[in-house]
Amino acid sequence: MQIQVRLERVRSLSSSTKDFRFVRVDGEPVSFVPGQFFRFVFTDQAGEFERSYSLCNFESDCLHGEFLDLVISTVDGGRASKLLFDAEPGFEATVSGPFGRLVLPEKLPKRLFLVATSVGIAPYMPMLDALRDSLRQGDVDVYFFYGTRDAEEFIYGQFLSAFAEQYKNFHLTVCYSRIESGDASIISHTNVTVRFGYVQNNMTELKMSPATDHVLLCGNPMMIDDLYPQLKQQGFGVRQVVREKYVFAKRPGVKNPAVEMTAEQKRLLAEKMKKYS
Ligand SMILES: Cc1cc2nc3c(=O)[nH]c(=O)nc-3n(C[C@H](O)[C@H](O)[C@H](O)COP(=O)(O)OP(=O)(O)OC[C@H]3O[C@@H](n4cnc5c(N)ncnc54)[C@H](O)[C@@H]3O)c2cc1C
Repeated sequence: MQIQVRLERVRSLSSSTKDFRFVRVDGEPVSFVPGQFFRFVFTDQAGEFERSYSLCNFESDCLHGEFLDLVISTVDGGRASKLLFDAEPGFEATVSGPFGRLVLPEKLPKRLFLVATSVGIAPYMPMLDALRDSLRQGDVDVYFFYGTRDAEEFIYGQFLSAFAEQYKNFHLTVCYSRIESGDASIISHTNVTVRFGYVQNNMTELKMSPATDHVLLCGNPMMIDDLYPQLKQQGFGVRQVVREKYVFAKRPGVKNPAVEMTAEQKRLLAEKMKKYS
């Protein structure tokens, strides 16, 4: 089903990231399961094109309503980035969805690991509200690992820190990929364990087990490609590890970009992905 949506609000969260509130033009509620994404069709001077975005509805006023909240990190030379980061309220798009299997398992495990890089945090934000009862009753321990460049890019830090204060079995770790060692001044939030380097390198010491643990991975494809083999070695399979890679959209006329790219283009793309991790 296609829905018409209109941009209602834009807020800047960091130098590279904004959140965008779209609203259904027909005023009907948006139906989705926390974790799912929608496909947005935008129109610019070159015509229509499509990009996927996870819903990041987590504030109390938008959990069940006509809103679609997105959190988007700008990409150099990106077509949607350009359009959205210049957009004013009133800008419209066509949306279809929801899609995706990065959702909470029907039966919660003893330990749930939510791992994200950058805007890969988006699908987890709506899940937090859905986890409140289980956290309150002590039915689950949630381990939230967030990889981001530095403290300025620790988006939703205040909300997450308050959530960790409220639920002692919500364990929050932030890993700063652009900071090499500990400086107490960067620890701007309480209830947060701070680590340095890539998030996947900070999970190697964890003793995890497929018998008790369920893992969701979202964001940078390189993080996911590094972490999944580590988990496989510990006995995890596709049932206990759900992955959602924020891959770039295919370019028109290019069937398989990975195959059709030259070695130099592949190197440039890998550098670009690293930059956004
Ligand atoms: C399921 C899913 C959910 C997503 N959710 C989110 C979300 O919640 N928030 C978010 O910010 N993003 C999300 N994304 C990513 C999002 O869909 C866009 O890819 C992202 O916003 C960049 O789009 P763009 O049009 O700005 O960049 P694009 O125009 O797609 O290009 C990005 C950059 O990469 C370069 N590039 C692209 N393809 C190639 C190629 N084949 N070879 C070499 N260089 C190339 C371009 O030149 C450009 O500089 C999600 C992706 C998926 C698949």
